[in-house]
Amino acid sequence: MRRLAILLTLLAAGCIPPARPPAGRRAPVRTLPPPAEDPAAYRQCLADLSALGAKVEPLPDRVFPNGCSATASVKLVAIGIPVTNLGAVKCGLARPFAAWVSRDVQAAARARFGTYVAKMESFGSFACRPVNNVAGNRLSEHGRANAVDIAAFQLGDGRRITVLDGWNGADGKARAFLRDLHIAACRRFNVVLGPDANALHRDHLHFDMGSGPYCR
Ligand SMILES: [Zn+2]
Repeated sequence: MRRLAILLTLLAAGCIPPARPPAGRRAPVRTLPPPAEDPAAYRQCLADLSALGAKVEPLPDRVFPNGCSATASVKLVAIGIPVTNLGAVKCGLARPFAAWVSRDVQAAARARFGTYVAKMESFGSFACRPVNNVAGNRLSEHGRANAVDIAAFQLGDGRRITVLDGWNGADGKARAFLRDLHIAACRRFNVVLGPDANALHRDHLHFDMGSGPYCR
């Protein structure tokens, strides 16, 4: 059914001719559909999230004619800490993200500040754009709902720790807290980029489940 839905989406977008190509030849397709998701793996991922105590809502697959997609995705309803500004997240990313939030983030807040994180601020998950927003680059993992950007943490005592001000700021506890989270993230995600990666990441931590491992 999902393949049919993808096909119908492509047809509607005028990407492939309606007639079947001759046997053995592939239809000329302007953009390739995303790799087909394994329904059993998606179900297992949803079960794993539930076992972690995370509440998520499965989302219908979306495939766009320009190559972007959000398939096997979920909406994060409750994963231990409210996260602002998050849209669709691929389940395979939601799983390590929920574990990082509920375990690593709270443990680091207790260890470094003796309090908890009440809220996290994100720069979003799904965004149909090339890597580093440079035209001509390959599609960002954000274009597959397979990446999330985290910018700030609001602590239970009212303090707000941002990646921009905290990473190299004067507050040693904030620096240690953010580095704890970066190190923990590298154990959970395929790719982690922070302020030491490049200037584009000076104000957020980027996590994705594309090809890795890469931790910077
Ligand atoms: Zn990002």
